[in-house]
Amino acid sequence: MKKITIAIDGFSSTGKSTLAKQLAKQLGYVYVDTGAMYRAVTLYAMQNGFVSENHLDKENLVVDLPKVQLQFQFNPDLGFAEMYLNGNNVEAEIRTLDVSRLVSKVAEISEVRAKLVEQQQQMGKNKAIVMDGRDIGTVVFPDAELKIFMTASPETRAQRRYDELLEKGQAVSFADVLQNVKERDYIDTHRDDSPLVQAEDAVVVDNSSMSREEQFEVVLNIVKEKLV
Ligand code: C5P
Repeated sequence: MKKITIAIDGFSSTGKSTLAKQLAKQLGYVYVDTGAMYRAVTLYAMQNGFVSENHLDKENLVVDLPKVQLQFQFNPDLGFAEMYLNGNNVEAEIRTLDVSRLVSKVAEISEVRAKLVEQQQQMGKNKAIVMDGRDIGTVVFPDAELKIFMTASPETRAQRRYDELLEKGQAVSFADVLQNVKERDYIDTHRDDSPLVQAEDAVVVDNSSMSREEQFEVVLNIVKEKLV
């Protein structure tokens, strides 16, 4: 069967990764969560004192970038790949609200983006890939056969994120999560390098009032059309 590249972009907590994972599993494709890569660089920057709430040492982070080794390793028990930073599994640490608060600042740095985009393009060079992020259909794979742009109201997205964090045992308030969602939306759509925008040829999926199953059904039908 024909192999294609599927680019899924959209706002934070729109369920991009859930959909991308479902699609990859169904099609036997590789799934790449590019947000995890930006989160891992952010964790590195935090661990080395390059970024905090009111400080960003861009110069030294950029000098250190060659030392940042990122790798996805498939975990068969979980059924998806986990993020490794310099050989350590950082899957849990990169999902904390502390990292979420700082990641958009780090993702604004062009040198960081250039490094990660290059790795992403390498991972997708043989197609048969589902990649999610903010700039996949616009910058990483502008020629992707299928581009999906996902959106939902900030409140719906914050509620999903809040439920997820509570489930993982993290003590957070709904107000903080909502504020984080809105702040990231703002920074992600206003940055100079590769802002989050809908690609002209993307299919928009607003899942504010769709269940995961309904959403999967809708998108799978679109995918099937592309595969013939
Ligand atoms: O997808 P996720 O919410 O985990 O992404 C975390 C952050 O990483 C985003 O808010 C955005 O700032 C950044 N990001 C990006 N480009 C991507 C993926 C993520 O700038 N392709």
